[in-house]
Amino acid sequence: MSAKPNSALLRKLPAVHRLLEHPIARQLSVHYSHDLVSEAIAAIVDAARQQILSGQRVTEVAEAELLEETIRYMQGRFRPNFRRVLNATGVVLHTNLGRAPLAAPALEAIERTARGYSNLELNLETGERGSRYDHVEQLICRLTGAEAALVVNNNAAAVLLVLREMAKGREVIVSRGQLVEIGGSFRVSEVMKESGAVLVEVGTTNKTHERDYIQAIGENTALIMRAHTSNFRIVGFTYQPDLADLVTLSHDHRIPVYEDLGSGSLIDLRKYGIGDEPTVGASLAAGVDIVSFSGDKLLGGTQAGIIAGKQTFINRIKRNQLTRALRVDKLTLAALEATLLLYLDEQRAIREIPTLYLLTRRKEELVHEAHRLAEQLVNVFAGQAVVEVTETVSQVGGGSLPTEDLPTYAVAIRSSQFSLNALESAMRQVDLPVMATIRKEALLLDVRTLFPTEIDECVSSIRDAYQRLG
Ligand SMILES: *Cc1c(COP(=O)(O)O)cnc(C)c1O
Repeated sequence: MSAKPNSALLRKLPAVHRLLEHPIARQLSVHYSHDLVSEAIAAIVDAARQQILSGQRVTEVAEAELLEETIRYMQGRFRPNFRRVLNATGVVLHTNLGRAPLAAPALEAIERTARGYSNLELNLETGERGSRYDHVEQLICRLTGAEAALVVNNNAAAVLLVLREMAKGREVIVSRGQLVEIGGSFRVSEVMKESGAVLVEVGTTNKTHERDYIQAIGENTALIMRAHTSNFRIVGFTYQPDLADLVTLSHDHRIPVYEDLGSGSLIDLRKYGIGDEPTVGASLAAGVDIVSFSGDKLLGGTQAGIIAGKQTFINRIKRNQLTRALRVDKLTLAALEATLLLYLDEQRAIREIPTLYLLTRRKEELVHEAHRLAEQLVNVFAGQAVVEVTETVSQVGGGSLPTEDLPTYAVAIRSSQFSLNALESAMRQVDLPVMATIRKEALLLDVRTLFPTEIDECVSSIRDAYQRLG
């Protein structure tokens, strides 16, 4: 007995230097650098050698096989960790999935701004230094009726900044029914503490009366704050003063009112049968001195916090040192301006801002899309699953309009042949992940949040995922 049975396989194993000369490897080297490719090939050849030695591998290892593995390895290694996913959850403003997708003009604005230089802090008329806040201020004022405005990093930053400038070391009166916690650990009470303002809680969880506010007002009161109860509703035996009444009583005591609107819609979505919320403009028209709201919730733009209201207060906030630390970046500003410009024509906003389009999609369109998806999925599962179109409800999400159920259509997948949890997990791990929900023994793909151009991609991702189940 001379050679072991696998020595012939070892001898036939392609050499690293030979593989590196192959056109495929050369191509990869151009793309990723010779050193990285050579390192990858050495590791892959070594792994094959180990398999032969351990007896796991009893067939010849072909050059093409090793090269294919090298391609997969390089693509995997350089695949961004932060990437695109398909949202089949039906949650339109899904915070974990990046909230609002942007409108085409916003994408163009980002590209244009990112590619070269811009007049970010330059006044083109005078040639002097300008302010980054000037670009969108007039537009925000026009769309909300505010006297002045500025944009910061996000609404959490806006709340912090308003409280710091308006109430540091002094008291802020808030109803107990509004001490909200938003996902991702944002609590009004905690932000208040960070800002240096002193929280004075009034009323009870379900009822706060005008007299509760009046009794709490003292020499050290700086502000009355109203926080939008974005992600919950108190129903039943409840009372909160009307905004106009709250404004009147505060102003009678010469105390400004600040409203954290959370989502802050620029158009009245009630017209489209959605929600029960007044607009930013309505809040300011009721006499509120300062409002703040997010750029990437119902507005449908980039992550940002918009502060709008009376000129004197906004001027003070602009000068606060903290504003510099919370400042908005140029790409955000570019996308926000492009998004706000769409609001000058409400119909255009509804059509072109993806968040508004997704929220207002018509039933007939959703049924059509659900059938289009279901028909293709029937082929994917080839009899191993039941695929049906079903009626369900979508959520607005992002802590906006929590009680609002939007009627929608979904494709439901049920199977006694494979585990839906395993499929759902595989769907998250393919190249273009698909996020879905499992409810009552069915995997649901809500088509509301799948753009029409994404249906075919969704099918191929699910096909990949199903193949991984083996
Ligand atoms: C969402 C929300 C915030 C935080 O806004 P971000 O833009 O996510 O920082 C603050 N207050 C309320 C009431 C909210 O709904």
